[in-house]
Amino acid sequence: MDTLRLYIDGGYVDADSDITFPTVNPASEETITEVQQASDGDVDRAVKSSQAGFEAWSAMTGAERGRILNRAAHILRERNDELAQLEVLDTGKPIAEAIEVDVLSGADCIEYFAGMAATLRGDHYDLGGDFAYTRREPLGVTGGIGAWNYPLQIACWKSAPALACGNAMVFKPAELTPLTAARLAEVYTEAGVPDGVFNVVQGDARTGQAMVSHPGIAKISLTGEVGTGKKVMASAAATLKHVTLELGGKSPLIVFDDADIDNAVSAALLANFYTQGEVCSNGTRVFVHESVHADFIERLASRARKMRIGDPLDPATDVGALISEEHLTKVLGYIDMARSAGARLVCGGGRPAGLDRGWFVEPTVFDQCTDDMQFVTEEIFGPVMAVLTFGSEDEVIARANDTVYGLAAGVFTSDLARGHRVAAALEAGIVWINTYNITPIEMPFGGYKQSGLGRENSHAAIEHYTQLKAVYVATGDVEAPY
Ligand code: NDP
Repeated sequence: MDTLRLYIDGGYVDADSDITFPTVNPASEETITEVQQASDGDVDRAVKSSQAGFEAWSAMTGAERGRILNRAAHILRERNDELAQLEVLDTGKPIAEAIEVDVLSGADCIEYFAGMAATLRGDHYDLGGDFAYTRREPLGVTGGIGAWNYPLQIACWKSAPALACGNAMVFKPAELTPLTAARLAEVYTEAGVPDGVFNVVQGDARTGQAMVSHPGIAKISLTGEVGTGKKVMASAAATLKHVTLELGGKSPLIVFDDADIDNAVSAALLANFYTQGEVCSNGTRVFVHESVHADFIERLASRARKMRIGDPLDPATDVGALISEEHLTKVLGYIDMARSAGARLVCGGGRPAGLDRGWFVEPTVFDQCTDDMQFVTEEIFGPVMAVLTFGSEDEVIARANDTVYGLAAGVFTSDLARGHRVAAALEAGIVWINTYNITPIEMPFGGYKQSGLGRENSHAAIEHYTQLKAVYVATGDVEAPY
């Protein structure tokens, strides 16, 4: 693969320095390609190009923008196999997941917001002769900064509502997964999105900072860690940018004694081991009622042990490789911490035998955990599940909420009244009843507390990519008392 360049003004361009960084396949530890690093000057060039793109794009009707975005979604669907394979090479996730979810959910998102582009409207206020109306206007040039776990999907979740509302976007994918955002830019161009409306700069935290402090960017939408969110919010304050933050979590998944245990086990497996556990909304604190705990653990362990770990390009693989060696070390460190803290290892617990290359970790379950263990309180972002027991509804709600995070939660019960009651009491932006990690575009996605600010997807995203202008219209003369 050729060196990956920046995508500015409708095509690939060279960065203004010759600094490059490698992007590496987590399953083979081999370099896929070198990537050109954007300088502050390149970020400025991308912003200026987006300002020009914005002029053309925002002058179109919503219906015209919608038609173009629908074409982009169609092209994305046609390129599913190729883009899913690239995503697997870059992230290490299993191909079965990438084919089914990553690209297609990006296309779903673009179609959803394409449909909404023509429906943007203001309100009318009758003021007794005079009247006022509101216009929902775009913000201008927006900035998207992505994490490495769902690179293409994140680029779609940010760019689709931004573009549908008439904004332009400069997007920076994570340094570890640069490949597919550039392909999305190609798709937008082929669909007819004007040059400059979606530019991609490649680089690291410094590149992200250059975007956050750039006065020409009106809004930043970040997906990343809580610490990064705090830094971005602090530096965005200098230019009072709008900010959307999709951050980390340590979400509870609660299994009551009347739950369908097989269903709850299926959800716990998906909520901890899908994408090797590198999912922000994962239900990593699994609270199981003490009366069903033994049964739950037995069924869980037997299914977790059968999960197939290995080559992410093999359609039969369930668990792929972690994103980087540094992340592998971090996840193994949390496993050691759990052992030393006295949690009981049920299955997994290290690197799988026979896989000498690649940053693989076995699906790992710890039982007999307590709320204060460090690996129970901190986000691991790997395939490590902590099982805890509880006795009463009030107790489990208090313990589930006892965290700085508030992204998601799951409740498993056959008592619907209890399901709704517990959902209302949980401090989380998303609560699933009798399922987990289903994220349709129609539903708002985002966190309470330190898990984030603002919402992606759904009608709610429109609020975050537009600003409201009120226009007062006088029908009589101005009455001046002097
Ligand atoms: P990071 O916070 O490390 O990075 C996220 C992005 O921000 C990257 O593109 C990164 O660049 C960039 N960045 C880092 N520092 C700065 C800075 N100071 N200013 C501007 N940009 C910066 O997160 P990860 O990529 O490690 O992703 C994992 C995290 O993302 C987890 O905490 C996870 O929970 C969260 N996440 C949240 C989701 C949600 O929707 N709530 C969804 C998915 C993940 P670089 O290229 O250098 O990494």
